[in-house]
Amino acid sequence: MARVPIIAANWKMHKTIPEAVSFTLEILQALNFSGAEVVLCPPFTALWPVTRAASGTPLQVAAQDVYWADQGAFTGEVSPLMLRDAGCTYVLVGHSERRHLFGETDENVNRKVKAVLRHGLKAILCVGETLAERDAGGTNRVVERQLNLALKGLGMGEAAGLIVAYEPVWAIGTGRNAAPEDAQAVNFFIRELIRNRYNSEVADQVRIQYGGSVTPENAGLLLAQPDIDGALVGGASLKVDSFKLIVQAA
Ligand code: PEP
Repeated sequence: MARVPIIAANWKMHKTIPEAVSFTLEILQALNFSGAEVVLCPPFTALWPVTRAASGTPLQVAAQDVYWADQGAFTGEVSPLMLRDAGCTYVLVGHSERRHLFGETDENVNRKVKAVLRHGLKAILCVGETLAERDAGGTNRVVERQLNLALKGLGMGEAAGLIVAYEPVWAIGTGRNAAPEDAQAVNFFIRELIRNRYNSEVADQVRIQYGGSVTPENAGLLLAQPDIDGALVGGASLKVDSFKLIVQAA
């Protein structure tokens, strides 16, 4: 089954509103959006200005995180209703920086995925092992646990629209990407987990990205793998030139 590749720019805690808007306008000029879906993940402050700038174009916008309640006394949090209101269509859930720097648990990732889907948004679910887990031969076990707990209670229809991002923690922001065949093996493993949990139709539909030090130089080989359906890009997404080359590689 042909899956449209999805390339997402995770800007993390970078870019002021003017910087985010000018990037958006420049990337709209630079790309023709044929053959790949492109998603920008600005910080919360720039979501609305970026969705305004991208309005009426194929460019999609994602939030980097979400809280699971609709509203209430949750100081500092942002709800899925608010993200929809700001024009987002996607939400990153369970990014390794949320898991490892801010104590996000698998249970909370599950609550967030459900909240995102309940409000008609799409989740980009991030999973991936640390270096210690990899060195101990635990990559598949960790990814399986993260995926199973994140998908707990999700029906077939909900799972089919999911994006999974396999992001080995040791590859994020380190300049050390996974070898294309190693990333392919984990992405294949993730697809088989989904096949066993749901069915082949769902497994063949779910798009599975790779993330971790993706650059214009390595994107081609990574994206050529049969089970790598796109990339989640951090550092190399901050400059229009390098992000554009990665999208063009897809
Ligand atoms: C990320 O933050 O999701 C990421 C993959 O970062 P980088 O591309 O900088 O490794």
